[in-house]
Amino acid sequence: MSEDFAEFFFADTFDKKIEIKEISPCIADPKRIKFLAQADKPLRDVLPILYLAIPNAKYSEKLGALNYTHQQHLITIFANGRIGMTYVKDRNETAQLIEEAKKLMNRALIYLKTHGKPSPEMIQAKKELTPVKIYELLPKTNCKICGEQSCFAFAAKTPK
Ligand code: SF4
Repeated sequence: MSEDFAEFFFADTFDKKIEIKEISPCIADPKRIKFLAQADKPLRDVLPILYLAIPNAKYSEKLGALNYTHQQHLITIFANGRIGMTYVKDRNETAQLIEEAKKLMNRALIYLKTHGKPSPEMIQAKKELTPVKIYELLPKTNCKICGEQSCFAFAAKTPK
């Protein structure tokens, strides 16, 4: 489904605005900034979908928070619609990252509208995924087509 088509049908469900609330120096590098922003709707239902879609994401249902790294940014998204990002170059990059976040969330909202919430079993399956379990599913031929020296190296590098 194209985004334009989806936006036409699901206009009321889409996040239209993510507003910057606070910008401050980044703790890891004071030459960079971190910011807090607020989406125009709660994101509780979006978090489990993003957790399944983003390979390195970590998710706590209890805390209502998901975080992941994108390039060098640590991105945290809260159930109440708060979004935090670190290690940002400047305001231009802030705007670009917000636009990317908006697209990502809107894709998750399309998924939610069309497929419903992921089951607890799907969430649990991802939480239990380990390199050993991934390795068990690989052909174990060590053919190197993936660019790794062995199937185990590939499994170890596959982000959770
Ligand atoms: S080495 Fe890589 S491409 Fe080859 S079988 Fe193993 S995982 Fe697959």
